[in-house]
Amino acid sequence: MKEEAKKTDETTPLPERSDAEILELVKQGKLPPYMLEKTLGDMERAVRIRRLLLESNLARDGFNMQPLPFEQFDYSSVFGRCCENVIGYVPIPVGVAGPMLLNGENVHLPMATTEGCLVASTHRGCKAISVSGGATAVVTTNGMTRGPCVRMKSAKEAAQLKAWLEEPENFAQVKSDFDSTSRFARLRDIKVAIAGRNAYIRFRSSTGDAMGMNMLSKGTEKALAFIQQAFPDMLIVSLSGNYCTDKKPSSMNWIEGRGKSVVCEAIIKGDVVESVLKTTVRAMVELNTQKNLIGSAMAGSIGGFNAHAANIVTAIFIATGQDPAQNVESSNCLTIMEPTDDGNDLYISCTMPSIEVGTVGGGTHLPAQSACLDLLHVKGASEENPGRNAEKLAEVVCAGVLAGELSLMAALAAGHLTRSHMQLNRAK
Ligand code: ADP
Repeated sequence: MKEEAKKTDETTPLPERSDAEILELVKQGKLPPYMLEKTLGDMERAVRIRRLLLESNLARDGFNMQPLPFEQFDYSSVFGRCCENVIGYVPIPVGVAGPMLLNGENVHLPMATTEGCLVASTHRGCKAISVSGGATAVVTTNGMTRGPCVRMKSAKEAAQLKAWLEEPENFAQVKSDFDSTSRFARLRDIKVAIAGRNAYIRFRSSTGDAMGMNMLSKGTEKALAFIQQAFPDMLIVSLSGNYCTDKKPSSMNWIEGRGKSVVCEAIIKGDVVESVLKTTVRAMVELNTQKNLIGSAMAGSIGGFNAHAANIVTAIFIATGQDPAQNVESSNCLTIMEPTDDGNDLYISCTMPSIEVGTVGGGTHLPAQSACLDLLHVKGASEENPGRNAEKLAEVVCAGVLAGELSLMAALAAGHLTRSHMQLNRAK
């Protein structure tokens, strides 16, 4: 029997009113759509009503809304943290590449992508690495940065500020304020650049297992307040003055590093180059010089001395809840290939100065992303050695890139690239 619709009036609490009534309130401007979650206390219902609103707005302009999944998602892990005005989610397939023997452990790489061939190709690279005895990765520097812009009355005063910050006792005081903002923030150094009467102050700090942007912002704000006591005329133009540099190409990150600076290396046996990668050591080394070194130099590249680091970086970033926009600098990579063992084997290394990753914060707590971190044994904060999980993740990203470089370069050297893409990208 059809349940009779309950009559409601002005006094009926909003959660007890029907979807149609709530939608009407939103349309009349009596309830802002962003308040739906808080008002109804039911996240999925809030999403459903927001979709009804969108559908009705689209219909007004003569359009339909195509199906976008929205059910069976834990919106409580998103609300107030990861996304606003939520109307559903975009499912992205996750493939696994490996295992790859990295630093003596078997690693299974989760990769979220819709680019056919990418996982298969990386998997082939992992195999070549593992059967050759594995890869080694090491973090050489670790520090996230924030580079605010401050304005002084004159260039002379800007220079005084720079000299003041470079005095060890002043740095120590700034550091003490900076470090007081988090258990994990530890200011490493400050680099100052002057442009006219502007000063750009790049704070670099370790951030434990967090990628660290929020942590850096908090610490930088406190440090600037302290510096302002010594320089009362200093005007803080912006907490970020693009001297950080976040999510934009820059020589700064390439040269100075940002996040984790990592190097990964491996020796691939000559017979493995032939049996797994279907090419020769000589062809790989030659192609690396012509393409990744000379070709990128001719293109005036900054940090792009590689074949496709961004492919692997982004796929792992999406799978593990990183900020995918940081692939801009995180994909900086120099791939080196050299013949070794009298030319019989291939030495390969990937040098990546600015991998920005965390295992806490951002989207890392979301159930699917957290499952992918767990697959890598780097979920959450490292209890015994804070910061080690994030470093390990950076090493995995660099090693994944090395596997990807091996396989794509081999496909290009052997002339297989177009054929495999036609097979794996064009399936109906
Ligand atoms: P981000 O700085 O990357 O934007 P958040 O500030 O959102 O990240 O997340 C870091 C939060 O996690 C902080 O509140 C910090 O105190 C907490 N936290 C807990 N354990 C750790 C850890 N091992 N390393 C870093 N942060 C941690």
